Amino acid sequence: MSGLTVSDISYNYGAKRALDGVDFAVDPGTFCALLGPNGAGKSTLFSLLTRLFTAPSGRITVAGYDLASDPRRALAQMGVVFQQPTLDLDLSVHRNLSYFAALHGLSGREAASRIDAALERLDMIERASERVRNLNGGHRRRTEIARALVANPSVLLLDEASVGLDAAARRSITGHVHELSKNDGLTVLWATHLADEVFDDDQLLILHRGQLLENGRAGDLRGDMALTDYFLSRTAEGAA
Ligand code: ADP
Repeated sequence: MSGLTVSDISYNYGAKRALDGVDFAVDPGTFCALLGPNGAGKSTLFSLLTRLFTAPSGRITVAGYDLASDPRRALAQMGVVFQQPTLDLDLSVHRNLSYFAALHGLSGREAASRIDAALERLDMIERASERVRNLNGGHRRRTEIARALVANPSVLLLDEASVGLDAAARRSITGHVHELSKNDGLTVLWATHLADEVFDDDQLLILHRGQLLENGRAGDLRGDMALTDYFLSRTAEGAA
């Protein structure tokens, strides 16, 4: 079983239940949007998926590997772009990626070709020698996504990757990541609170107060409504 599977995952912070029996699967080549208002549990789920926290019950598999019993293999299949940027601002784009490649045991020709391929996929090859500090927010984000690709993950997790970007940069990043699922067969989980980043053919998960309210094709779920209106109607106070 490849892609990503999350089976019956719950998580509490003390008495506060942050996730309640969350269950879903994302197939390879699928862009899956995890949409939920602030406080829905998206970051908690990402912490469990990346093993920052361990789930007390339930099961997560990444490209078929069980995250609890085979974490090394499972994590090796996973690329992650966190909400907080983690690039070294004083290094060039290329150097940030080659440093990451070295941390993953890659060097020489193999590293060089993976770095070039990753920068190509994000349309960043022309900026390879620029210092990250001189890039705008959208290009920094693209650098981070390219960096995550250097390790050749089959599952890519992005936690609110478009936060703080202007509309044009948001559209560009969203487009690039959709292409990674469509053209390269990556399994993508894209957490956001912005419905306009979701396309009709995407798999859509709506998370609200720790519970998964919906799991289906975005276009089918929204019907005749604009997705933003549909999302607001499902997550309004009192709705469940
Ligand atoms: P999201 O990422 O969707 O905004 P979070 O996963 O951050 O949601 O939060 C889910 C719920 O858990 C919220 O009600 C939040 O207040 C609560 N929560 C998050 N982190 C903690 C924490 N460290 N201690 C207690 N409650 C927390």
